Amino acid sequence: MGIVLDKDMDEARQGEAITMNEVEGGRKLYLESYGCAMNFSDSEVVASILTNDGFSTTQDSEEADLILINTCSIRENAEQRIRNRLRQFNKAKKNRPGLIIGILGCMAERLKTNLLEEEKLVDIVAGPDSYRDLPGLIQEVEGGQKAVNVLLSRDETYADISPVRLDKNGVTGFVSITRGCDNMCSFCVVPFTRGRERSRDPQTIVQECGALFNAGYREVTLLGQNVDSYRWNMTSKGEIKDETNPTTNFAELLVMVAQVHPDLRIRFSTSHPKDMTDDVLYAIANHKNICNYIHLPVQSGNSDILKKMNRGYTREWYMNRIEAINRIIPNCGITTDIITGFCDETLEQHEETLSIMREVKYDTAYMYKYSERPKTLAERKYEDNIPEDEKQRRLEEIITLQHEHSLAMNKAQVGKIEEVLVETPSKRSEEQMMGRTDRNLKVIFDRKDSKPGDYVMVRITDCNKASLKGEIVESE
Ligand code: SAM
Ligand code: SF4
Repeated sequence: MGIVLDKDMDEARQGEAITMNEVEGGRKLYLESYGCAMNFSDSEVVASILTNDGFSTTQDSEEADLILINTCSIRENAEQRIRNRLRQFNKAKKNRPGLIIGILGCMAERLKTNLLEEEKLVDIVAGPDSYRDLPGLIQEVEGGQKAVNVLLSRDETYADISPVRLDKNGVTGFVSITRGCDNMCSFCVVPFTRGRERSRDPQTIVQECGALFNAGYREVTLLGQNVDSYRWNMTSKGEIKDETNPTTNFAELLVMVAQVHPDLRIRFSTSHPKDMTDDVLYAIANHKNICNYIHLPVQSGNSDILKKMNRGYTREWYMNRIEAINRIIPNCGITTDIITGFCDETLEQHEETLSIMREVKYDTAYMYKYSERPKTLAERKYEDNIPEDEKQRRLEEIITLQHEHSLAMNKAQVGKIEEVLVETPSKRSEEQMMGRTDRNLKVIFDRKDSKPGDYVMVRITDCNKASLKGEIVESE
């Protein structure tokens, strides 16, 4: 497990360049993605829009006519990494005057014209809601202008765009169900970079999942910053907008997607402790193909810090949700996000984060040092007053504890026989495959005659803290 990974995309995919089937001729696009799964999913929408505009993709930035970077602003080091990358591309521009460089996503939204005017690093700045405008923005640049669109929308969901899939395995795919966030956690930049929360038409979600299944995919992850607040044809107060049409909440959407096909596994991310209701848990319990796995970010184990973070729940409320998960879905994998060294966090408050970890025993956790972000409530109201080395010390303490828990959880699987969805050959050998159990634990096993997309029964024989080892057994 890495130290500061974004939760849904492993470190190996950061900076990954998109590839699609090459279209002969035309202009060449090099598109690199950073950050969370939502960004990688957005890059698939961008690829779709630009293929329709005559672009083909390349893995080689040196032969590109257009370089786009889909960016992340969640922590300062994420932005720093992207700035360095932009500087590299900018050097290349000196020898290739026709080359167009554009920045997409959260950093584009946050920094707006700065990157263009002050730092002169890019030609195009396009925020997360302006991707339909990319062909127009490219034309403006070709006409000798710089081009910006950072308008956030109240209703853009790209619902009608059929994304070009960039996940290479052809087995697991992401499907966005909401965009934006209305929560305003005090540490978080997302509401400023991705705008107001809006939900996507459930029929288009079901259609997209059906199309993925027909193309050979066997798992979809429904994506939103807070999937539990998904709602269709309802206001935030629960009033029906149009009486002549049905309403859909998240639990109902899960069931609709589960009915696409029994062999299509469903996962989702991210659940919010303040909004996760028991009907979602019952939907999981009652449908075999909705995976027994919930990512439920706690952020801190102390109620005063949670209040300062504006998370909308206390430690007791969070533990009530954990108790409900364990009661309704026995054997449910639970993972989390934790921030160390938030403003004014005392040693006792940090201890409470360690103690909630001991109570819950997460399968894995994504752990971060607090990074102050401009314009957020925390930046305006509180002092970022825990020294960097102390943040780091606290981070290392929680990482050490989490490693113990991950190892214990994996050891408890040894001897079990689990249904595993085969994803890819393992990193080390073509003769071994990697797949995941229902509760999202990674398993490595000898290939035999299995192939990506198969469900196989695997006896777990060994483990370390990051993954399980096993062998395929005949299903009984
Ligand atoms: N909407 C999701 C949620 O509520 O958990 C995910 C938001 S964010 C993309 C993923 C994680 O990044 C958060 O859960 C939080 O732990 C971490 N994060 C967000 N802002 C941060 C900051 N300013 N400093 C450190 N970590 C941060
Ligand atoms: Fe950020 Fe909170 Fe929204 Fe998650 S729920 S995206 S942490 S504001």
